[in-house]
Amino acid sequence: MSDLKNKRVITACLCGSWPTRADNPAVPYTPAEIAEDAYECWQAGAAIVHVHAREADGSPSIRYELYEDIVNRIRAYKDCDVCINITSSGRECGPDEERIDPIVKLKPELCSYDAGTLNWQHRTIFENHPRFLEKLGLAIQEVNVKPEIEVFDAGMVYNTVYYMKKGILKAPCHYQIVLGAAGGMTNTVENLVYLKSILPEGSTWAACGIGAGHMPIMLATIAMGGHLRVGLEDNVYYHKGVLAESSAQLVARAKRLLEEAGLEAATPDEARQILGLTRKVF
Ligand code: ZN
Repeated sequence: MSDLKNKRVITACLCGSWPTRADNPAVPYTPAEIAEDAYECWQAGAAIVHVHAREADGSPSIRYELYEDIVNRIRAYKDCDVCINITSSGRECGPDEERIDPIVKLKPELCSYDAGTLNWQHRTIFENHPRFLEKLGLAIQEVNVKPEIEVFDAGMVYNTVYYMKKGILKAPCHYQIVLGAAGGMTNTVENLVYLKSILPEGSTWAACGIGAGHMPIMLATIAMGGHLRVGLEDNVYYHKGVLAESSAQLVARAKRLLEEAGLEAATPDEARQILGLTRKVF
């Protein structure tokens, strides 16, 4: 095993469900655009790409065919071994089976696992019913897909402790601390320190700040030993008032910041070792 202690995993979140081309014209919509962005992010230093699907008009979608197309296109880049993380959410989430289907059929290395329900950005309910979380946890164990557990507040961390006891989640888990989504905890370093302090021992973790909190949370995460997530899903700006050109531009900055701190961006294979991903898709 190579020396991994100075390696940090960068995840690129390409489009999510919310940002549109009105927010930033670089937001990818079609499977071809999403796959192209995934490839560019890998070239820029991302080890994982976190994937949502959109219909051609940009509306969020959980249609299986779109996910299949995106995954096939990413895997068709023969020199690219980036780890794929498929979301299990999506705006106005559909029936449980539709959310789980792309994951169990396409078997990415990772999938997101949002460990609770919250009011989302003062607009809607981001619903993750206990019934859904139980089904998803068991279904992905069967196909050996690792959950990337997204936590937006402390209660979600404690939910995962319960699910580990029940066998619905298998330790050690990998957490993504997401701060700054209205309805969840705000993006302060104090909140980051607190959430990190209550993660179960032996967990791996990353963090990201939504919008304006993007930079301070990234810098604090680097200092605290965590892994990083950047991309247009979380933040459409490069600087205040200056739109990002692409998710790859944000990945390149994250890689540079790691290097300035004497660290390195992990390759996909190093990320597989760090996160305990036992199955390599390629
Ligand atoms: Zn997402």
